[in-house]
Amino acid sequence: MVLNISKKYDYLVVGAGLFGSAFARIMTDKGKSCLVIDKRDHIAGNAHTKCVDGINVHEYGAHIFHTSNDDVWEFVNRFAKFNGFVNSPLAYYKGRYYHLPFNMNTFHELWGVNTAEEAKAKIAEQRLDVDEPKNLEEQALKLVGKDVYETLVKGYTEKQWGRDCKELPSFIIKRLPLRFEFDNNYFNDKYQGIPVGGYTKMVENMLAGIDVKLGVDFAEIKADQLKIATKTVYTGAIDEYFDFCLGHLEYRTLRFETERVEQKDYQNSAVVNYTEREIPFTRIIDHKRFEFGEQEYSIITREYPSEWKEGMEPYYPVNDARNSELALKYACLAKEQNDILFGGRLGTYSYLDMDKVIASAMELAGKESNDKAL
Ligand code: FAD
Repeated sequence: MVLNISKKYDYLVVGAGLFGSAFARIMTDKGKSCLVIDKRDHIAGNAHTKCVDGINVHEYGAHIFHTSNDDVWEFVNRFAKFNGFVNSPLAYYKGRYYHLPFNMNTFHELWGVNTAEEAKAKIAEQRLDVDEPKNLEEQALKLVGKDVYETLVKGYTEKQWGRDCKELPSFIIKRLPLRFEFDNNYFNDKYQGIPVGGYTKMVENMLAGIDVKLGVDFAEIKADQLKIATKTVYTGAIDEYFDFCLGHLEYRTLRFETERVEQKDYQNSAVVNYTEREIPFTRIIDHKRFEFGEQEYSIITREYPSEWKEGMEPYYPVNDARNSELALKYACLAKEQNDILFGGRLGTYSYLDMDKVIASAMELAGKESNDKAL
């Protein structure tokens, strides 16, 4: 493929997700020239929203912006107004609803308790007393006790990983926070919300005045990268950049099933987690609720976790020993490259929330601004 460009840029930015777009914005504001490419036909990466029948649909799963980082919050507010949406998901288990995250409302629903002391006593009597949990089940039982684990953790986690909790390593769950207040706000962050008009509109504003080419796979122009720009910022999969020379990194993927239903109130909540293993999906999202929509219909998405195979969307890195070691080896190769910088969730093989991705793009842009070579 030949890119029809009339000049050489300072940066070729591979990926129009939040990392690439934030980096390109900051460097453009500093007087550098950037060309952003993406192999998809849209910008905003996995945060992309598509307007369907007047509702912004989160096409790659529900995305709720939350941060305690003042600089990141100030940055995103340059490109969108945030609507004050607070994530308060529910869990559905065997015909009953429970509030999340695990808080006094949840404990009241589980046991009828009304005070923090009663809830703490109930959890203490159910906790598994082990020093070194052998697997994820033991780890969860140690952290939250039997009822919370069996009702709200077990089935959901088994569906997410496609394996029994007894066969999963304990390190997958480091913490299961328990909140002894009646507070259903899922995040502890200072700021939270959804950009009014959707994430794609926000990223469009971020990329204003910057050259963007969609439907361009870096693999097809890799040989020409130094002709296109002095440096490349790569936010695609790190193993793919190196032609999988050390092997393939593995992921978990998701399948989304989206439909329009002729009901104003489909589930009375933006997000409901299905925590029974027998129900094959993990969540149902009611998209209009992220923006307080009043439509007489709803657009809903069921989320099914599944095994990842080449060619599928890579969503969650698998942080087991094999993949962590391999990712480290690729990171070493990346460090040896001249004039190519790796960033974002795929470029670093890590799960990063949106605010962390933007913070790391800001950090890289800060370092680059001090580089006198350009
Ligand atoms: P991406 O958004 O993946 O962008 C990378 C871009 O690079 C993609 O558009 C891709 O097409 C492009 N690309 C890749 N390879 C090539 C190539 N060879 N050539 C050209 N282009 C290429 N975070 C939150 O803060 N809150 C949430 O509620 C939240 N929910 C999430 C739900 C799900 C299901 C998932 C999977 C993630 C969620 N996240 C959430 C995380 C969020 O999606 C990421 O932080 C963010 O999308 C990462 O941005 P990025 O730019 O690093 O990567």
